[in-house]
Amino acid sequence: MIYPIVKFGDPVLEREAETITEFDTPDLHKFIEDMFESMYAAKGVGLAAPQIGVSRKIAVIDTSNGQNPDDKLVLFNPQIIQTDGKQVGEEGCLSIPGFREQVRRGRVVTVRAQDIKGNTFEKTGEDLLARAFLHETDHLYGKLYISHISALKRDLIRRKVRKLAKAGDWV
Ligand SMILES: [Zn+2]
Repeated sequence: MIYPIVKFGDPVLEREAETITEFDTPDLHKFIEDMFESMYAAKGVGLAAPQIGVSRKIAVIDTSNGQNPDDKLVLFNPQIIQTDGKQVGEEGCLSIPGFREQVRRGRVVTVRAQDIKGNTFEKTGEDLLARAFLHETDHLYGKLYISHISALKRDLIRRKVRKLAKAGDWV
């Protein structure tokens, strides 16, 4: 099932999601499948559950965009435990379509998360994967990438979005 993507302005995107305590249920497996399906349909490389209106600490990532099954990652209750170096590059978000900004991020990032069985693991990613770890983990704490850009640019995006919403073009 493909879920519609929740857009910037919906409060679900700006509050901390709930920690997952129950693992490996049929519902959870189905939900993960749906998250990947929704992410691929939206042509994203990462998706956090709040982006489909579900306020729970779950994120999926696939930097190969469906090309390499080994790149599929599921993170339950992720936490960033180490960040090294820096990268500056363009970043966007499925929940803020039509906008992209230069965002400074760590270049090598280690995340600690649980898998679908509840087992804790750590994974280190570089470049795009590092950026995805940071971006998606942020989502689960109610933080959007525009919190990492200047207040001026952020306000400009807010104003444009408000205008689009008023015209009915932001749903
Ligand atoms: Zn996003």
